[in-house]
Amino acid sequence: MAVNLLDFDGPGLAAWLAGQGEKPFRARQVLRWIHRFGQTDFSAMTDVARALRERLGEIAEIRLPAVTSDRLSGDGTRKFLFDVGQGNAVETVFIPEEDRGTLCVSTQAGCALECAFCSTGRQGFNRNLTAAEIIGQLLQANRLLGRDPAGERIISNVVLMGMGEPLANFDNVVTALRLMLDDHAHGLSRRRVTVSTAGLVPAIDRLREACPVALAVSLHAPTDTLRDRLVPINRKYPLAELMGACRRYLEVAPRDFITFEYVMLAGVNDSDADAKALLRLVDGIPCKFNLIPFNPFPDSGFRRPAPERVRRFATFIADAGIVTTTRKTRGDDIDAACGQLAGQVLDRSRRVAGRVIQLAEVGR
Ligand code: SAH
Repeated sequence: MAVNLLDFDGPGLAAWLAGQGEKPFRARQVLRWIHRFGQTDFSAMTDVARALRERLGEIAEIRLPAVTSDRLSGDGTRKFLFDVGQGNAVETVFIPEEDRGTLCVSTQAGCALECAFCSTGRQGFNRNLTAAEIIGQLLQANRLLGRDPAGERIISNVVLMGMGEPLANFDNVVTALRLMLDDHAHGLSRRRVTVSTAGLVPAIDRLREACPVALAVSLHAPTDTLRDRLVPINRKYPLAELMGACRRYLEVAPRDFITFEYVMLAGVNDSDADAKALLRLVDGIPCKFNLIPFNPFPDSGFRRPAPERVRRFATFIADAGIVTTTRKTRGDDIDAACGQLAGQVLDRSRRVAGRVIQLAEVGR
């Protein structure tokens, strides 16, 4: 089968081309054609020697994941569905804002972490996306969004906050990140690329070594007792360890703070006492808080707090001198808001069947 060149970062492509007897500068040329100009046809890569173009046409390909749906929300948010084969599809969301355009990218078909309040988690897990499928979401979105009137790319920021846990798909995610940062590819600054994690401590340390980009950590609870329930990976990597990893990450982070995401669940983690405990937990860690009022989905079992409760909670944290933003619910009319991405996942972990039984038992 032909090699998909989207699976290579710069050094990877250089090594593969070296194996074909080509010089390193060829890798830069090909990388530019693919990622900067979005070219998928080798014969159009005019500064590449004809013989190499022909050879690439025989042994390689540039295969993007197919877009099977493209929906526009009333607020300008746009959601793409990508077919990644064998009954699996993942979602990518473009969020336009005044000063930037952010693409929210998926890293896995489904997710194995089972966070209690997340609809992706409910669907089970099928597989990791390949590097080609991750970077392919950016390439396709760039293509479909076009350029602004000044000829600039519309997507200025990328967040790995779609379906899946990025750090559970470490190697492919790092390859895709390197392509996002490489000047010959997408050329985004480290500060404009964010990895969001539920808290895989060893992988946070590895990311720090391999490719430090902006880091967001899904905190969601101030104590281990509560976090064990909401974010089960906490049983493996409890809060003290997670805070340690955040401190270590800050030594190399491109931004001098960690972003803590905090989904607000009515009556569960939204009290003044929770806010106070949170402040104790993050004491001494330069950070910002991003509060995400819970986005409901069928049978979630959780509710969004009243706006006044969210405001009070935000004020409580902000009053301690921590920059606190409340994420606007964007794209919820097309189920594109945080935690609503579901795509289509053929679960292979067989958890879902187990859950149905559990729920049935609770219902009795
Ligand atoms: N697995 C990574 C990447 C997913 S990012 C992580 O956990 O960080 C998606 C963000 O939306 C996470 O902070 C997640 O906890 C949050 N989220 C999940 N379900 C949600 C829901 N129903 N409402 C609001 N936020 C949700």
